[in-house]
Amino acid sequence: GNPTISILFLQQGFALFAGFRLYIIIAVVAGMVTGGFVPDIAVKFSLLGEIFINALMMLVIPIVILSLIVGITNLGDLSSLGTLGWRTIVYYLTTTCIAVLIGIALVNIIQPGKGLSTGEIYPDASYTIQENNPYGVNEDTMGGVFRQILIGDKESGKQGMLPHNIFAAMAQMEILPLIVFSILIGLSLSALGPKAQSAVNVISILNDAVMKITHWVLYIAPIGIFGLISSRVGQAGGFSGFIPELYLLGKYSFTVLIGLAIHGFVILPLILKIFGKRSPVIFGKGMSAALLNAFSTASSSATLPLTMQCAEEKNKISNRTASFVLPLGATINMDGTALYEAVTAIFIAQAYGITMTPAMQIIIFVTATPAAIGAAGIPEAGLITMVIVLKSVGLPIEGIGLILAIDWILDRFRTAVNVWGDSVGAGVIERYELNKNI
Ligand code: ASP
Repeated sequence: GNPTISILFLQQGFALFAGFRLYIIIAVVAGMVTGGFVPDIAVKFSLLGEIFINALMMLVIPIVILSLIVGITNLGDLSSLGTLGWRTIVYYLTTTCIAVLIGIALVNIIQPGKGLSTGEIYPDASYTIQENNPYGVNEDTMGGVFRQILIGDKESGKQGMLPHNIFAAMAQMEILPLIVFSILIGLSLSALGPKAQSAVNVISILNDAVMKITHWVLYIAPIGIFGLISSRVGQAGGFSGFIPELYLLGKYSFTVLIGLAIHGFVILPLILKIFGKRSPVIFGKGMSAALLNAFSTASSSATLPLTMQCAEEKNKISNRTASFVLPLGATINMDGTALYEAVTAIFIAQAYGITMTPAMQIIIFVTATPAAIGAAGIPEAGLITMVIVLKSVGLPIEGIGLILAIDWILDRFRTAVNVWGDSVGAGVIERYELNKNI
C-alpha cells in the first residue's frame, strides 16, 4: 500500500542482508584471533560450531529431495531435462579440467617440492588417515571409483547412483543416489498428469518450508562460524602451533593458493561474464554467505542449503536450475579439489626426488578429475581420494604425510572454490535455460 513504508521495508531488508555478510566476516576474523591467541579457551567453543553444522546438515537431504522434485515437475518433459543435464555436465567437466591444468602448470613452474628433504619436513612422515572413513574410496583403480559411483560398494554399504537402499543413501548422506531417485519421482509425477497435482502442491509447500528453516539457520551462522573457526584453530595449537608448519610448506601452500586464486578470481568470473552474462561482482556478493560458510565448514554438502538459498533468493536463479545444478555440483563438481590433487601429487613427486615424465603428468591430469568427483563434500575428503592419483603413477602413498598437518587450512580455500564453481555453473546454465534458442 503505502510507498514510503514499502521503501522503508526494502531498506531494512538490505541492511539485514549486508549485516549477515558483515557479521559472518567478523565471526571468521574473531574466530581466528581467538583460536590463534587463546587456543585453550577457543577449543571450548566447538559445541557452537557443531550445533550450527547439525542445523545445516539436517536440511541437506530434505532440500535435495524436495527442491529437485519441484524443479523437475516445473520442468515438464524429459527432453528439457536432457538439455539441462548435458549442459551441466559439459560445464562441470570443462571447468574442472581448466582447474587441473592451472594446478599442473603452476606446480611445474614454482616447483615447491624441489630441494625439500622429506625427512626435514616430517622426520616420521607417516600416513595416518582414519581407516574406516565411510566416505573413503577403495584404494584401487579409477575403474573401481566409477563402479562405486555407479552402483556403490556392498562391503562398506556405500550407495551408488543407483542405490540399493534409498534410506541407507539418506542415512549416509549420499547425495548422488538421492538426485537420481528424486528426478525419477519428479518425472513420474509429471507423467501422472493432473491426478498428481495435489501431491506436487504439497511437495512445493514443504520445499518452501525447508527454505524458511534455512533462512532461520542463517541467523545463527555468525555464532556457529565463530565456534567452528576458533575451535579448529585452537585445536591446531593456535598460531604458534600451525604457523611453523605452514612456513615449512610455504611454497607448496602458496602454489595451491595461487592456483585457487587464479581459478576463483579470474577464470570463473570470466566464464560467468562471457557465458552467463552476469556481473561477477554482484553475483559473488550474492553468494558471499555461502562462500564464507564453505570456508568455515570446509564442506560443500553442509553449505548446500545456503548455496541454494543465495543462488535463488539473492541471485534470482530459478528453482529448476538451482535444484538440479547445485546439489549435483556439491557432490561431483570440485574445481578446487581437482586443482589441489594435481598440485599435491606432483609436489610429492618433487619432494621425493622422482622425475615426472610428460606421460605421468598426463595420467595425473586424467586422474585428478575422478579423484575430485569421488571426493565427498565433507572436510578433507580430497586428502583421501589423493590415493587414487598417487597410485595411478606409482608415487609413494606416504607422501600424503607431508601435507597432513596443514591440509585442514587449504581444505577451506578449496571448498570455497568448489562452491563458487557450482554457483557460477548455476549462473551460466540459467542463462541458457532462459534463452532456449542460444
Ligand atoms: N572439503 C571439500 C568439500 O567439501 C572436499 C575436499 O576435501 O577437497 O568440497
